[in-house]
Amino acid sequence: MPEFDLIARIQARAASRGDVVLGIGDDAAILRMPPGRDLVVAMDTLNSGVHFPEDTAPADIGWKSLAVNLSDLAAMAATPAWCTLSLSLPQPDAAWVDGFLDGFLALATQHEVALVGGDTTRGPLSVCVTVHGLVEPRGALRRKGARVDDDVWVTGTLGDAAGALRQWQAGEAITPALRARLDRPMPRVAAGRALAGIASACIDVSDGLLADLGHVCRASRIGAVLDVDALPASEALRRAFDRRTVRTLQSGGGDDYELCFTAPKTARLAIESASLACGAPATRIGRITADAGEIALHDAQGVAWSPPRRGYEHFGG
Ligand code: ADP
Ligand code: MG
Repeated sequence: MPEFDLIARIQARAASRGDVVLGIGDDAAILRMPPGRDLVVAMDTLNSGVHFPEDTAPADIGWKSLAVNLSDLAAMAATPAWCTLSLSLPQPDAAWVDGFLDGFLALATQHEVALVGGDTTRGPLSVCVTVHGLVEPRGALRRKGARVDDDVWVTGTLGDAAGALRQWQAGEAITPALRARLDRPMPRVAAGRALAGIASACIDVSDGLLADLGHVCRASRIGAVLDVDALPASEALRRAFDRRTVRTLQSGGGDDYELCFTAPKTARLAIESASLACGAPATRIGRITADAGEIALHDAQGVAWSPPRRGYEHFGG
């Protein structure tokens, strides 16, 4: 099957939006910006065997390739609008592309994102997506902006995706609820938007909580102290691993795609109600300190805790 047949399959299924002047089919897409909005652009690549296990279903690869990009827009408090897709395939496999689109377009529909173009080439399996979102001028959340004594929060639960990966790497049976978090991350788009004007800094947890909060610390020139027993964990994770492993997966494991953000103490009630309203309950896990670049961890008794190794290997990043 030649490349243009694959593109025709993609074009036939991609939904449009009113602000797409010209979508798939020409040399480039034409998009109409609403007046008074800034454009927010993010790109992420997923390589087979690096960013997802080789046995991942095409539909899950499709979902995840868009999800990780929408997660970056979520962390900026942007509203997704459009995306482009670069597909590198070992062979022109129509069944694979159909499966891929099932997952990709299901998530695109949920967030009303139009696929407006891309590129299709032959090569090792690799998927690169660019997403475009909109924000009001100065309405975006950034890594910079956290202040000393701000609370540190995280949405949802941490460690599930890393738990699935650990089971997969050990050749064990993978708990379905954990595998679902690895394969079908839910980008926190509504939560990100709700936090605009409330949070002082924000990042999505793709590489692991400590790594990603570390980026906020460096950008904001502050440090943080976290209560490792306050980190939210799913029932599935607690059932599957001992407490020490749970802590390690939560603090170091990647691929969760939750939002980690900071906010002044005065915002607690606003955050609790806003995060609940969009189905991404937020948990307070620590506070910002003046120790620039330092993240200290302790348990519920106040005893210092350090992870066995930082930067636990994973499929994220
Ligand atoms: P060109 O050679 O001018 O770049 P292509 O044959 O690569 O044209 O692409 C033709 C059209 O199909 C373009 O509109 C392009 O954006 C779109 N397209 C190609 N591959 C993809 C893809 N994987 N997903 C979405 N659109 C695609
Ligand atoms: Mg091209």
